[in-house]
Amino acid sequence: MPTNDYNFETGVFRPPSEGGAASLLVRFTRNCPWNHCTFCAMYKHERFSRRSLEEITSDIDAMAALARDLRDESERLGHNGRITRDAVLALFKKVPGLNHHNGAAMLIQWLMAGGSTAFLQDGNSLIMPPKDLVAALSYLKSTFPSIRRITTYARARTIAQRAPDTLRDIRKAGLDRVHLGLETGDDELLKKIKKGVTAEGHIQGGQKAMDAGFQVSEYWMPGLGGKELTEQHARNTARVLNAVNPHYIRSRPFRPLPGTPIYDEAATGAFVQLTPKEQLLEIKAMVQALEVTSKVCFDHAANHWRTRGGGLVFSHDYEGYKFPEEKDTLLERIEDGLAFDQPPSTFLHL
Ligand code: SF4
Repeated sequence: MPTNDYNFETGVFRPPSEGGAASLLVRFTRNCPWNHCTFCAMYKHERFSRRSLEEITSDIDAMAALARDLRDESERLGHNGRITRDAVLALFKKVPGLNHHNGAAMLIQWLMAGGSTAFLQDGNSLIMPPKDLVAALSYLKSTFPSIRRITTYARARTIAQRAPDTLRDIRKAGLDRVHLGLETGDDELLKKIKKGVTAEGHIQGGQKAMDAGFQVSEYWMPGLGGKELTEQHARNTARVLNAVNPHYIRSRPFRPLPGTPIYDEAATGAFVQLTPKEQLLEIKAMVQALEVTSKVCFDHAANHWRTRGGGLVFSHDYEGYKFPEEKDTLLERIEDGLAFDQPPSTFLHL
């Protein structure tokens, strides 16, 4: 018999590369333990809180119960356990509360996509007591053996504070990839945006994550320094990325978001934004200075620049451009975008 007790939490945010892959979203902590960055609106009005190991395993049990009941409906309908539309409708009819469950659709999509990847929410799962994180990862993997990859957001500063053996234990327990918000490698800009970490801290955190065997995905923000800091932002970001040589470098172009301090600075003229063309010039300078073997990615709609032919300058593919092999190709595409005045982005950042 289906149970009415599918009680699990699902947070709002995950990287695009985890949405397209239909990852299972499992909430290990709530919101961001730092929450001071002046450009970030993600958790501004939410308080950080930890979740106990019991809460997390209880969520995983509830997800497993929902998956099991969906498969049972499928068997009953003769669909051999496949999660079909009819099986979903049959269970929703028996448990109408599922229509209002904020994680049911995510879980169903994940099962339909093959159930192979998971993303741990929210902003910095490495803040958890390491033994709880290891236990929660092990429980997740043993409950859903189909999971092949687990990823999460993390802060470089937190990783830098963890012992190498601790990081290796977390890696061995099943955490495969960490998504790190570098934003910039420039110390002056890091201080200005209240990132709470220095360029050296970013390097240490990134290198320790690499040494522990994680796949490392670093995010940077073209345009974050405005007109004043554009040159040093590009140069020092490349310097940090060269020192870490992560698996992925992902571009998240900056735009001031309402409700953030930097938005107010832009409104008063204290922060002067780059034009779309200047932002593209900054990307060119950063890319030119990269000496890495990373995949350089533009996997977000905010990378909006167009070529003369009207296509996108950047592929939005999650795997991006492999360096150094595709560096010249990427620079040629950027030159194409620089050949005319780029229109402003119509993309709405949320
Ligand atoms: S650490 Fe990340 S989630 Fe937290 S405030 Fe900064 S950018 Fe936002």
